[in-house]
Amino acid sequence: MAFLLRGAHVVDPQVALDCVRDVLIDEGRIQAVGEDLARPAGAEAIDARGKYLVPGLVDMHVHFRDPGFEYKETIETGSRAATHGGFTDVATMPNTDPVSDTGAEIRYQIDRAHEAGLCHVRPIGALTRAEKGESLAEIGDMVVEGAAAFSDDGHGVQGAGMMRTCMEYVSQFGRVAIAHCEVESLTAHGVINEGRASTRLGMFGWPALGEELEIYRDIELCKLTGCPLHIAHISTARGLELVRAAKAEGLPVTCEVCPHHLFLCEDDITDTYDTNLKMNPPLRSAADAAALVEGLVDGSIDCLVTDHAPHAPHEKNCEWEIAFFGTIGLETSLPLMLTNLVGPQKMSWSRLVEAMAVAPREILRLEPVRLEAGSAADLTLIDPTATIEVTPDYFESRSKNSAFLGCTLTGVATDVFVNGRRTLTDGVVTSQGR
Ligand SMILES: [Zn+2]
Repeated sequence: MAFLLRGAHVVDPQVALDCVRDVLIDEGRIQAVGEDLARPAGAEAIDARGKYLVPGLVDMHVHFRDPGFEYKETIETGSRAATHGGFTDVATMPNTDPVSDTGAEIRYQIDRAHEAGLCHVRPIGALTRAEKGESLAEIGDMVVEGAAAFSDDGHGVQGAGMMRTCMEYVSQFGRVAIAHCEVESLTAHGVINEGRASTRLGMFGWPALGEELEIYRDIELCKLTGCPLHIAHISTARGLELVRAAKAEGLPVTCEVCPHHLFLCEDDITDTYDTNLKMNPPLRSAADAAALVEGLVDGSIDCLVTDHAPHAPHEKNCEWEIAFFGTIGLETSLPLMLTNLVGPQKMSWSRLVEAMAVAPREILRLEPVRLEAGSAADLTLIDPTATIEVTPDYFESRSKNSAFLGCTLTGVATDVFVNGRRTLTDGVVTSQGR
């Protein structure tokens, strides 16, 4: 099926485009980008006037819970949520049951994603067996089956020597090690940011240092091993300073941030104890959030991810101390960025595209997607004026534990194309075969 998108505002900093163009896609590729393109026979014309067309969005940090916790999310329902949120690619973290630490587990995810037929799923393999931090996982085997990167996300690798071995091994395969930075001897029992929030509400604190110390260690190990290092879900101003310094030294260090660490802070946790605000790392101070926004806008933070973490009602509707960590994010990420940063002109469209499409492909060593003839037709079309109400019914995700329930947001993806197939049509997920 061929499509001619007419009159979209096309934004792609990779080819210096920020203007109105027509885009013709056919046979899985972009065939032409130009003005007043003629519609070939059989091509469906789409009126894209007033909308923005960008390289397909990528979320390189999601949890699809499949295999093992399918009651929270499956690769199929997660793919639906990703598509509804405007994404063409997601990278899935390996803390499933069993942990994705062999080639067979990586193959399982890729096969299930093909069956779902919506977005590209790029599985991330574990660094260590069962994420126990004791012995190396089958990294070479997982590379052969298509693992995009490696991480023990959910845990920090506690032993510095073990992390060194992981990084030495991963670097041989030209992949990136993704570090969930958490020194568990400092964060044990921690359920909320240590400081104002933990004192005010009387709960065990998860100190910023628990994250920063391991960021520091892993940057030093990057220096020692030469392995590309990506810091997951950075949440503190000081952690960001460490990454800035590493980049200034020329080290291959990148990092990511989540919308909840940008647009919420510990002060949003009140005595209603909304457990959708409990996540790991925790919501930090307002000053941290402001520093992270600045870092994302100036490019010190490379990309935006959601850490999409689905949980069932019984895992959240309980006391704060025992509630599970995490919030879903795939379906609110783009609307939050448009509402809070791009709409108010605190961030340009070009920078948004870098953070949500260009940088994550670079970090995962994926083929670039550019708005030019010959590129894969993985594209996201965005209506910057459409408004959504964030209610449980809005979500395609099997779980509804969003930290942003009740918000009204402006700007949303209306259409998504993956390899030239229309997977989202006027905001509705369109199943495979189209
Ligand atoms: Zn994590």
